[in-house]
Amino acid sequence: MKTTHQATETPRPPAALARLARLGCLFAAVSLVACGPTPDTPASDGSSDSGANRGADAASGADGVDAISDDAAGHDVSAGPRLVHVTLGDHKTLADGRTADIAFDLPVGVTAIVVRVEGDPALHYILASLERDAGFSLIPKAWLDQAPVPDACVTPCANRMAAQPGAAAFLFPNTPLVDLRPGPHRLRVYAFDAKRQPAQTTVQVSLDLVRPRAPPGGWRLPVNLCLTGAMGWNAGNALDQPRLVAALVTAQQLLAPAGIALDPIRTVNVSAKGQYIASQHGPDSDLMQLFLSGDGLPNGLNVFLTERVVAVGGLPGANVVLGLAGGIPGLPNSVGHARDGIALSLVVPPGQTDVLGHTMAHEIGHYLGLFHASEAKSASGSGVHDTLPDTLPDDPTNLMFWSVGTQATKLSHEQIQVMRRSPWLVAVP
Ligand SMILES: [Zn+2]
Repeated sequence: MKTTHQATETPRPPAALARLARLGCLFAAVSLVACGPTPDTPASDGSSDSGANRGADAASGADGVDAISDDAAGHDVSAGPRLVHVTLGDHKTLADGRTADIAFDLPVGVTAIVVRVEGDPALHYILASLERDAGFSLIPKAWLDQAPVPDACVTPCANRMAAQPGAAAFLFPNTPLVDLRPGPHRLRVYAFDAKRQPAQTTVQVSLDLVRPRAPPGGWRLPVNLCLTGAMGWNAGNALDQPRLVAALVTAQQLLAPAGIALDPIRTVNVSAKGQYIASQHGPDSDLMQLFLSGDGLPNGLNVFLTERVVAVGGLPGANVVLGLAGGIPGLPNSVGHARDGIALSLVVPPGQTDVLGHTMAHEIGHYLGLFHASEAKSASGSGVHDTLPDTLPDDPTNLMFWSVGTQATKLSHEQIQVMRRSPWLVAVP
């Protein structure tokens, strides 16, 4: 079972194995995201200082960020930059795992935010509540008391969210069922350990405030293709590989309806240790080390090309994960953190179709904020579907269906709206 934020797809296992695989995913369906890791590292008690200093991060000037300005709280910035990053300071979680209320103001014109929580990599983070002062809850404060596990908020939260270890990001809104309005808000963070027990620690909280834009040239998403040497591909020859070029063309075509272009596409070499990803949990896992190998790269979504990512508890014959994303969404404009990037398996198991391009677009969809349109059905036949009104249940033609095949090509209007809120996107004039 899993907690995370990792969206993993098993490659349509043979029929005899499909039922077992779905049982595995069923547990995950409780946590909303597909099959993924369970926290397996003991929690540490890292309580330290707390505070409520609210200030602005220093401007980074990084590619992919229109602008980073001063604290925008209380100011009308509707005519200002598309993206403003605001720090909300360090906050201590108490014995119940929750911080006290963290207050912030949403300026006029901001219609989307990403809440970012960073802390001890051995702990998981999710929001305990997010409320407007007018009494409207984007995340109802009682959800943790009702949920069997804190891994994700599904049914009580129209705006879904999934916990992540070490660093977590939460996009609002990710459904038209909720909206953001200007004015005072308050949130609480919840931290829990590997045993899903509340943890006392200190977290850093910040916001990305997003104002809508309709750029004439659409959007571009900078991409770093991170080559591990798998398949003999490296930074020098990767874009000469017909299979990779075809996959990039497919991914571009699938994202084109959203007006999103992968641009620029850089190729970089990373550690060859990343060719085989056998573990996904904890700071020392292969997956975390793979993501960390992207440290120092230019601002962009790191797309790691590995020989294979082995499924957790993998079944013989169905033990390769096509791809996974470091977050739903990934940390905005963060490169080189242990959660930063997506990983794609290049191996094509016998009898399987090559869906590298579809998987790439699917994982990018997660990284920009999309949950699965539908999760795998449980043994009882019931399924979990997203809260978007224009995606059909159990539709394998949707790009964000839990199992990726060549027929997974569609993005709904609302899915496109979610993706366009991502701080990762750069407006093209
Ligand atoms: Zn997925």
